[in-house]
Amino acid sequence: MQAITHFFSGIFISILLEPLGTTWLRFLLITGLCILSHFLIDALAKITYHPADAKWDDAFWVSWHVIVYIGSVACAIIFIRSYFFGMLVSMIPDIYDWGIIRGVRAYKRKHNPAVEQDQEKKQFMEGWEFHVLVDKFRERFLSFLPDLNHEAVGILPEIAIWITCILGVVFIS
Ligand SMILES: [Zn+2]
Repeated sequence: MQAITHFFSGIFISILLEPLGTTWLRFLLITGLCILSHFLIDALAKITYHPADAKWDDAFWVSWHVIVYIGSVACAIIFIRSYFFGMLVSMIPDIYDWGIIRGVRAYKRKHNPAVEQDQEKKQFMEGWEFHVLVDKFRERFLSFLPDLNHEAVGILPEIAIWITCILGVVFIS
């Protein structure tokens, strides 16, 4: 899912737990719930518009990504002071998979190309990616969902998550 969707869930969870003040329990719960929400939100990625490759010649793809990226940056700027922790932990699974694991793989490839060309050899931390777990969960429990990764209508479930988080905040505050 898009960063803004995880940001919204992180902000929502932070506000939800505000009555706990700045106790360690609140930070612990924010961490656990944000990682869980990242898992569940990504599990729904199948019903959202998410073409695997960039489609620069597709006006819809470009427009949607402009909205999402501007929205993500605006959301980060507006809320980062108050909800930095929740927003950060809501992105931990992506930082772990795309940043750390892929980063180490790229580093290894660069410094030892011969090893990486060996297709039989397991990649660094193969099978230990957060999103591999998400994929397995989705296949096991959500296989009935339609695949909207290439359908424009797939932006609606993502927008629905934003609205749910915003309404949730309005409702509890
Ligand atoms: Zn993710």
